[in-house]
Amino acid sequence: MNCEEITDLMDGYLDDELDPITSQKIEQHLCNCRKCEQAYEAHTALAYAISQGAPYYKAPTELRERVQSSLREAIGASATRCVGHESQLLVPRRGAERRPVLLETPWNWLGLAAAVILAAIIVSNLLPRLQRSGADQFLATQLIASHVRSLMANHLTDVASSDQHTVKPWLDSKLDFAPAVIDLGSEGFPLLGGRLDYLENRPVAALVYQRRKHFINFFVWPVAPGTTSTPKAISHQGYQLLHWVDSDFNYWAVSDVSDNDLQTFKQLFEKQIPHR
Ligand SMILES: [Zn+2]
Repeated sequence: MNCEEITDLMDGYLDDELDPITSQKIEQHLCNCRKCEQAYEAHTALAYAISQGAPYYKAPTELRERVQSSLREAIGASATRCVGHESQLLVPRRGAERRPVLLETPWNWLGLAAAVILAAIIVSNLLPRLQRSGADQFLATQLIASHVRSLMANHLTDVASSDQHTVKPWLDSKLDFAPAVIDLGSEGFPLLGGRLDYLENRPVAALVYQRRKHFINFFVWPVAPGTTSTPKAISHQGYQLLHWVDSDFNYWAVSDVSDNDLQTFKQLFEKQIPHR
């Protein structure tokens, strides 16, 4: 099996829909192909992230009562209408005794109709929220992958310098925006350098900071005008992510340091950038 076939079969493999022989062939390929193994891991992480991150909402009591009362009304009307036709609604079944289904029928159909309506209401209310949450989780997975790759591939920085006056002009010359570059060395977060990365279909700035023996990848790119968002801390696959926005930029700090360290980093960073 080649990589292309693996890619085509990946979804079926993840959903356990393939026959044992095909599954075994895929497993063999994954053992020998780093690229496909990484794709498999990314898919699994994404599926897990979505299952963990999808919020669960309970229907409000008022909505439930409204559905139940309209259901009761509809059943009442329908049962009255059908009483005179009882004999026509007997269903003869071969080898079985005749069984009246009159009173089951409206329940089944109305129950089904109510379920469909309820599902439609819930989906239309929740889908945008679910999609947003799914998109955030997907981005979180990408950010972690980018962080890990930068450490694994020995490609932490394109421009290695603790001097913000070296890193900033370098980034400004490569990007169509000018992120704030601040050295926080005296506060225990020395700047190691900067790198270009690619996220959300655009080049972004990745600033690299150190915290004791750990690294923080700090991703920055322009925010869509009018975006507001409350700061968000995510813990995923053993990594901490902290996200916030200001009037100009999206910020994502990714690291294996504690959430407290990232919060401190955010406060120090915000204290030093020109107030927006
Ligand atoms: Zn492969």
